Amino acid sequence: MYLTLTNCPTCNGILRELILHSGLHYSRSEYAECERFIRWGRSPSSLARQQVLEHKISSLAVRTSLTAWEASFIASVSLQLEQKKNLSPKQTEWLEKIYKKYS
Ligand SMILES: [Zn+2]
Repeated sequence: MYLTLTNCPTCNGILRELILHSGLHYSRSEYAECERFIRWGRSPSSLARQQVLEHKISSLAVRTSLTAWEASFIASVSLQLEQKKNLSPKQTEWLEKIYKKYS
């Protein structure tokens, strides 16, 4: 991934992450000199929640006892996370239900 580049190819400024205190995003990464936007960042707590979801999904994905519906649900949310898309509240709720059922 080219996001691991640490200096701006144009101005050679370093990549910095600014923590935002309002608005939709937790942080904004940009080059220090030219302020060229690189990406929005997520908060540590949001990333932690995401990891818990990923853990639950991957532990369910290897189970052979899922119903056909559950298996296809898990496959689809797993693909969604791979594509960096957030789960809907409804999907999260279903995931929790299925996880509880098998734990
Ligand atoms: Zn630059």
